[in-house]
Amino acid sequence: MNWVTRFFKKFQIKYYFARFFSSVQNSSSKITSLGFDFKSKYLLKEISDPVNFPGIKLFETNLVLKGSAICLPGIGIFVHYKTNGQSRNRVLQHEYGHFLDYKTSKDLRRKRTLNSPFLGFYLCIGLPSILNTIPLMNKIPGLQGNHRDYWTEVRANKLAADWFGDQLAADFNKFHPSEKA
Ligand SMILES: [Zn+2]
Repeated sequence: MNWVTRFFKKFQIKYYFARFFSSVQNSSSKITSLGFDFKSKYLLKEISDPVNFPGIKLFETNLVLKGSAICLPGIGIFVHYKTNGQSRNRVLQHEYGHFLDYKTSKDLRRKRTLNSPFLGFYLCIGLPSILNTIPLMNKIPGLQGNHRDYWTEVRANKLAADWFGDQLAADFNKFHPSEKA
């Protein structure tokens, strides 16, 4: 175990995230210190599917922008609650591709990330992926391009397509191409 893993273990970062989210989920009392009813304002409902999406929890929420979703390895995949049916399945499959990248990409573990898959994912995939969506930032070499075709996305799409096989959403390739346009 390297120092990074020890650091995260020691301070139990994941534990605090989990506690935060479960307190949001389970709290029947109002969080009066924040001055508003957190539970009635924010939705966070677990929709995990360990058969098709093993290894990570799934949540529907209004904490992400409408139509969007995010994969936070170690925490969960979050999809907007109004994304339903076929499009929900497709979006979850794409986000699961990011999780598979986190689980399987050995190259990221070695590269400047102190052998930590956790840091490897957030620094090498998560950060450039987010920066690519920000205007101006995405003019910087290495962060350029249409988000749909950005290398972090294409990589996730390939992994998802392999993992889900014939269970892949029918319109997956239309929205999430596995090759650069
Ligand atoms: Zn993505």
